[in-house]
Amino acid sequence: MQEFVKNRARQEIFKLKPYTPGKPIEEVKRELGLEDIIKLASNENPLGPAPRAIEAISNMLSEMHLYPDANCFNLKKALSGFYDIPITDILIGNGSDELLKLIAETFLSSGDQIIVGKPTFSEYEFAALIMGAECIEVPLKEFTHDLPAMLAAITPKTKIIVICNPNNPTGTIVNRMQIKEFMDKLPPDILVVFDEAYYEYVESPEYSTGLEYLAQGRNVIVLRTFSKIYGLAALRIGYGLTSTEIAQAVERVMEPFNVNSPAQIGAVAALQDQEHVKRSRELNKQGKQYLYNEFKRMGLTYVPTEANFIFMDTGVDGREVFNRLLKLGVIVRTGDIFGLPTFIRVTVGTAEENQRFTTSLEKVLKDLK
Ligand SMILES: *Cc1c(COP(=O)(O)O)cnc(C)c1O
Repeated sequence: MQEFVKNRARQEIFKLKPYTPGKPIEEVKRELGLEDIIKLASNENPLGPAPRAIEAISNMLSEMHLYPDANCFNLKKALSGFYDIPITDILIGNGSDELLKLIAETFLSSGDQIIVGKPTFSEYEFAALIMGAECIEVPLKEFTHDLPAMLAAITPKTKIIVICNPNNPTGTIVNRMQIKEFMDKLPPDILVVFDEAYYEYVESPEYSTGLEYLAQGRNVIVLRTFSKIYGLAALRIGYGLTSTEIAQAVERVMEPFNVNSPAQIGAVAALQDQEHVKRSRELNKQGKQYLYNEFKRMGLTYVPTEANFIFMDTGVDGREVFNRLLKLGVIVRTGDIFGLPTFIRVTVGTAEENQRFTTSLEKVLKDLK
């Protein structure tokens, strides 16, 4: 490493591990010379963007010389109506990823701690480490957040606990009773971030959202996104629902034009396109069932999911499976980055994509055995 950076940069940056994104289709095309590729690696919506969002964005392209609305007023108003909560309690971010970072900047100092599950979404650790805080990882129990163990991990330094519900990469949820017991015992001065990026896909009647605790006046932030079921991942737009007090604090560290206009306009239109949400949920439900059946037929174990991806055990080296699937033009995620080297995570695609994935997987596993 060059001396300049080593001596002058904040030491916190050397603890950061680079994010491992799903491999982009273009990259696989370049590297393997393949044309026909499907990406089931980043939990994107296989039906594409909400059609109403495409239309709304197409109609605003000639306005792109203007700065966006710094306050995201129209989107906040739409979300306020959608959830029946005050406009002052809504945060809009450049993806919920940005909100995670802003929350860390608002609440964390060097030496503080946050508590998260293991494995879970890596951005929580990233946001904490940037601020010089420590990320305490509590192992999942049966692939699910172990809330009693997370409570037991609290120290005087704990500022934030993040519950990813459904959890990425396992697709599991913590249920209503588990959350209630957790919230009943939680010291009120600890902020709970419920990351509900996959909320719209949940089918279980046992599910409860962090919004219930927000309504009770607890210190919680509920994060949701337009990247997944609404199909707007490229626009980078997510939102947080919280108290007015917390929202005002987080807005202090926010850049004035953090969310671009196509994103704001697209999100308003997407929110009105509940038909698309319904279609997407239905497709996911069918795809999930198809994949379960195929895994059973092949004698493979998987974690039942409440999201649009399945964490499954290949029984062999997951990275090898990943590489061989790649050569067949199918991009998935390896489990080793989540600490489970025989696992892969696959996004539920269209019927055609799911079939191509299972056919390819069966071939790869046959070759490997
Ligand atoms: C995809 C995802 C997000 C969404 O991130 P955006 O920045 O809104 O695209 C947030 N949390 C989890 C757990 C996710 O998987």
